[in-house]
Amino acid sequence: MTVPDIHLNDGKTIPQLGFGVFQIEPKDTAEAVSQALQIGYRHIDTAEMYGNEKEVGEAVASSGLDRSDLFITSKLNNGFHRPDDARRAFDQTLSDLGLDYVDLFLIHWPLPTRYDGDYVSTWQTLEEFYRDGRSRSIGVSNFNPHHLRRLHEETTVRPAVDQIEVHPFLAQDDVRAFCHEHEIAVEAWSPIAQGAVLDDPTITEIARRVGKSTAQVVLRWHIQRGDIVFPKSVSPERMKENFEIFDFELEDVDMAMITGLDRHERTGPDPDTFDLIPS
Ligand code: NDP
Repeated sequence: MTVPDIHLNDGKTIPQLGFGVFQIEPKDTAEAVSQALQIGYRHIDTAEMYGNEKEVGEAVASSGLDRSDLFITSKLNNGFHRPDDARRAFDQTLSDLGLDYVDLFLIHWPLPTRYDGDYVSTWQTLEEFYRDGRSRSIGVSNFNPHHLRRLHEETTVRPAVDQIEVHPFLAQDDVRAFCHEHEIAVEAWSPIAQGAVLDDPTITEIARRVGKSTAQVVLRWHIQRGDIVFPKSVSPERMKENFEIFDFELEDVDMAMITGLDRHERTGPDPDTFDLIPS
């Protein structure tokens, strides 16, 4: 099973399918990531906020894989947006992961109601990590078009990706259109809405017809839309299932039926109001 690469606007590439570790307990993370790597995943999505960077690093170190064959993403936590804090937090992330560089580092949330609405100086600090090579690419997460427009107007490096909530109940047409126009790759978080889309009758019927599971159909829908996904699972069977999505194709009519399920329904917070600083 070969995972396609997506080309980023900075010349780098990213595997279109990865493995997400949000809500995996630190004690279970090294094993889960090791299993994912054995199955063939080469792209891991973590964050300081998830509290399991050290354990991701342990799994990477014991994998025996070449660092250059892996794509590791982490994210700046909400309490560290001020430039000096961001520099310290990034050093800590590299140290916890046991790596001398990450492939991608993101501002986790824009927090427009905190830091006097200043996520621009935070982005300029990530530009430093990009320029010194310790983050091969940099991007943002949960940025809406108006947040992205401001970076576009006030900074020099374009985000390589925007990682946003996307699934059949939340198609995010406006953010995705803005990203496409500006060559920003879209990463779809909670790609199966943490399981909420899996019992939908339309998706169930398509899955029955094509002989795949509902999760595989939804993940395939994302892939054919060109987005990057990293479903989370602690079950090796489901990790395998989620990996086996490159041996079938959805027809246009099925793609349209799934896209038609959009009801603008989030499972997570709204980026314009979310302001949590985890303790
Ligand atoms: P997902 O949409 O990936 O769903 C994960 C849930 O679905 C888990 O409960 C898992 O259970 C279950 N599941 C996984 N595969 C299957 C399957 N084949 N059949 C049935 N159930 C399945 O949700 P996440 O929120 O974890 O999103 C994925 C990743 O996105 C995160 O891990 C994280 O990396 C990223 N993310 C980023 C955010 C951001 O703000 N930037 C916010 C949220 C997520 P089980 O483990 O028991 O298999």
